[in-house]
Amino acid sequence: MKLDPVVHQIDFKNRRTLVTGAGKGIGREIAAMLTRFNAQVIALSRTEKDLQSLREEIGCETMVADLTDPGAARQAAEQAGEVDLLVNNAAIAILQPFLATTVEAWDLTMAVNLRSVLVISQVIAAQMIDRGVRGSIVNVSSMAAFQALGDHAAYCASKAGLDQLTKVMAVELGKHGIRVNSVNPTVVLTEMGKRAWSDPEKGGPMLQRIPLGRFAECEDVASVICFLLSDAAGMLNGLSLPIDGGFRAT
Ligand code: NDP
Repeated sequence: MKLDPVVHQIDFKNRRTLVTGAGKGIGREIAAMLTRFNAQVIALSRTEKDLQSLREEIGCETMVADLTDPGAARQAAEQAGEVDLLVNNAAIAILQPFLATTVEAWDLTMAVNLRSVLVISQVIAAQMIDRGVRGSIVNVSSMAAFQALGDHAAYCASKAGLDQLTKVMAVELGKHGIRVNSVNPTVVLTEMGKRAWSDPEKGGPMLQRIPLGRFAECEDVASVICFLLSDAAGMLNGLSLPIDGGFRAT
């Protein structure tokens, strides 16, 4: 495809875009960046006051739902209306050593990080197919899908599962012109990232393995997601794309 610098500037005008986990951290920046690129954003999250401040900041629609509940996840996706672009970003990380990983923590992690992606994407993709929309879906995975991290058994398993779910979605939805990719960021010092990595004993060795010498920022992740959602990424489908400053090359 020949790139025209005017036509192919990222512009999501008239594109309804659902972002889950948009109240805080990376999801909040994704919602803000998408708005700057003219998308109509629907921000879904769990805490009302986060959504209220986001609404005031960027003027998006908001939706409160707890994605641990599959019924609530389905209902939220149905209420989101005619969605063209979807970012499955919401996730939790409950840090427990493997031997002490509880069934409750495992089930909660899988419910949010994996099952809610299935349920929401089923509703949105079916609707894209009915409307003949060649949509794009990005699942926010993690380098934890590739890299075994201590105290992250449930989290790593959920993200590895998410990458494989992404690929199956890409295979099945590709024939409808719907692209599905995941992004796999390294550490970002959000609330979630700080809990796991702000201790220099843990974070230091991780940082040393990143050739660019820094952790990722929310903007680093959001900008790659905007690219993947855009027509400029029209032939990208089924990727698990590291955003890791070169970590995987070491
Ligand atoms: P944060 O914990 O900072 O934010 C997560 C957001 O998801 C919050 O708004 C949270 O709402 C929402 N959320 C969590 N559980 C639910 C739920 N059950 N229902 C609805 N919303 C929910 O996380 P990050 O921004 O750091 O992470 C965003 C994504 O990036 C995740 O998929 C994460 O796995 C991934 N990632 C993060 C990395 C990091 O180092 N930070 C590295 C690689 C990937 P509330 O606070 O109200 O619960």
